[in-house]
Amino acid sequence: MRYSQLLIPTSKEIPNDAVLSSHISLVRGGFIQHVGSGLYNLLPLGKIVLEKIKKVIKDELDEAGAQEVSLSFVTPLSLWEESGRAEKYGKELLRFKDRKDNSFVLGPTHEEMMVNLVRGSVKSYKSLPLNLYQINTKFRDEIRPRFGLVRGREFLMKDGYSFHANEEDMLREFALMEATYSKIFTRLGIDFRVVEADSGAIGGSGSKEFMAISQSGEDTLVVCKECDYGANIEAGVSALEVCEEEAPEADFAQFYTPNLTSIEELVDLFKVNPYYMIKIVAKKALYDDNEEIVLFALRGSDELEETKATNSVNANELVDVSVQELETVGLVAGFMGVINLDDKIKIIYDNSLLNAKNMITGANKRDYHFVGVNLEINETKDIRAVKEGDKCIHCGGELSYTKGIEVGHIFQLGTRYSAPLKAEFLDEFGKAKPFVMGTYGIGVSRLISVILEQSSNLKGAIWTKQSRPFDIYILISNVKNKEQYDVAFELYKNLKALGYSVLIDDRNDRFGSKIKDFELLGIPYSLVVGNKIEDKKVELINRLNDSKELLEIETILESLKSRIE
Ligand code: ATP
Ligand code: MG
Repeated sequence: MRYSQLLIPTSKEIPNDAVLSSHISLVRGGFIQHVGSGLYNLLPLGKIVLEKIKKVIKDELDEAGAQEVSLSFVTPLSLWEESGRAEKYGKELLRFKDRKDNSFVLGPTHEEMMVNLVRGSVKSYKSLPLNLYQINTKFRDEIRPRFGLVRGREFLMKDGYSFHANEEDMLREFALMEATYSKIFTRLGIDFRVVEADSGAIGGSGSKEFMAISQSGEDTLVVCKECDYGANIEAGVSALEVCEEEAPEADFAQFYTPNLTSIEELVDLFKVNPYYMIKIVAKKALYDDNEEIVLFALRGSDELEETKATNSVNANELVDVSVQELETVGLVAGFMGVINLDDKIKIIYDNSLLNAKNMITGANKRDYHFVGVNLEINETKDIRAVKEGDKCIHCGGELSYTKGIEVGHIFQLGTRYSAPLKAEFLDEFGKAKPFVMGTYGIGVSRLISVILEQSSNLKGAIWTKQSRPFDIYILISNVKNKEQYDVAFELYKNLKALGYSVLIDDRNDRFGSKIKDFELLGIPYSLVVGNKIEDKKVELINRLNDSKELLEIETILESLKSRIE
């Protein structure tokens, strides 16, 4: 394409709200344009990149036997009521009414819609399995839209849903999608890791996330240094810690601990490892139609993992609870513990407290703690956050943290949506059964940002092979020089004939500003057609290895073959 005919509004400005280099690169390179909070226009180059990403996704999904559809972005609220999500989804769901007072939702995800499509068109096990997907607009009224295309309000998602006659077949498809997603992200040149993810209250290993490794990621990942175990911290597990230090020797007794409310202060007083303290974290659990205060008990050396804690009581959400609220149920902040606790108060113990001995705990009385406490509890749950340095349960290796941006998520749904929406098929014995489902998402527009986030260096962004808007940028140093112009266009024609995608900078502009634009666009290679054509040479700039080289025009097509990846 000719630069002079394209809309590429590059700029020197750094957007006010930009904190990520990818966000700056996309705006400065004229790929996207900000419209409003979490809303962007894709300009011609942005759209070219998007289409390239979509093509990789579509190729691999079609290869895996999935079928593309396109569902209505506007979805009837009634479907959300049927599934029970109208209430649960919260404020991310944008609702509105039409002129006839019918209620709608802008689709943030399309489980209900896809189940509705299938329940109206598939009756028999003979039509199964089915994997239907779309690459379409989503809207989520995110509380903090930011980072350019990473967290928008309107964004593009590939969302796929599979329908099966039984669990076994769904698991087969889940594995196929895991392999397919891995191929997609590998082709796109993304440095990613597949990690175990939170599956909500359902639990189990039914959910995996594809995380692009990036320091700017909002998710903390737990990864093993020895094996390939990885998990979102929300779902990470590790071997239970054993404390080398001796347990404090003390008979069961109450101790006066005036104003000592923190684990650190108590550690100082009793000179024991925090491992031997019971830490109580009080939260208010919110359910569909009620709420309650719940105490979460852990070892003092551990931290509560909120997602695990939320799942442990099947709550919609956990929120902080005030000192006053604690007092109304007889709890004393800073002195909460497991002894003399009112039966009516729910307490969840972490697995690490099973059979714990010689512990120190709050006395549920101001200024007192108990020492020498041996726990006798039957039920414990995993509510602690994995710490760096913990041991891997698979290989004993050391676990560490890293940061990631979620680019994909695959989830074993079972009958979570088909059952309430009464989406059923007749099995081979003529019996009606709800479809067993899987769901699979990719953040398509997010990927545009993620690719640049991973491949930016000091000189700016460079696209990966499968995402770059053009392979080669031909820069005509002086368009008024007829010879340069003709050589450049001859090259342009020949390179295109060889299958390269080429952008030719034919603008009547200064050389310096053209070079700057070339760098802003993140295209890895430029051929500069300038004075050197007198010696029958053009210059190849390679931004990937930061090199420049003069090449003979005569043999250039051959020379480029080995130089362009
Ligand atoms: P996140 O934890 O980042 O909010 P999510 O768990 O809400 O993601 P899913 O509901 O699983 O995401 O959606 C599927 C994919 O859509 C995600 O893996 C992510 O790549 C992408 N995605 C989710 N929210 C956004 C957003 N606000 N902007 C852009 N992409 C998004
Ligand atoms: Mg989200």
